[in-house]
Amino acid sequence: MANILLTQRCVRSCPYCFAKKYMADAPFEETLSWNDLIYLADFLIASGENRVSLLGGEPTLHPHFVEIILYLLERNFHINVFTSGVMTPEIFEDLSNNLTGIHPERLSFVCNVNNPSKSPAAEVKKVEQFLETFGHLTNPGYNIYSPDFDMDFVFDYINRFGLKKFVRLGLAHPYSRKEKCICTGGENAQNG
Ligand code: SF4
Repeated sequence: MANILLTQRCVRSCPYCFAKKYMADAPFEETLSWNDLIYLADFLIASGENRVSLLGGEPTLHPHFVEIILYLLERNFHINVFTSGVMTPEIFEDLSNNLTGIHPERLSFVCNVNNPSKSPAAEVKKVEQFLETFGHLTNPGYNIYSPDFDMDFVFDYINRFGLKKFVRLGLAHPYSRKEKCICTGGENAQNG
């Protein structure tokens, strides 16, 4: 499966974010162009690959996110989107109006959920709104980045919102060298 980065922008700032360095280095407004997307789609089809993952940053921040999904579906790709579920009302409405009816075999999301008890209330509300609408297309993703992690809320989300019963787990690890962590500023912290 090919990974395509649509944008390096994100609305969150997760302590374990592997992309933070690239987000910091990239121009804020830089997004994948239509020409590059079409080139990549042609290249993948010619290579016999019909599965793509769309990543960021937060891929739904790409100004043509819905059009990109519809274009890739038209070209017979199976699409997996990695999202935080945190989006503006306008973006959420655009997704809701256009993507909810797509078959789960063709479009799925991995929603990278953070513990709601440690997250801003406004962010939790947006994530839960996303899960309520797109739960049937969504696997929860959870990143373990501290020894005292608690995943109970993930199973609660699965039951409350009818998510797919497959959790994508990420396991962060410490740096082997003693240097400043690019994501937390702490020493020997992880970034994965
Ligand atoms: S939602 Fe993803 S891209 Fe955004 S800060 Fe968190 S881990 Fe990084």
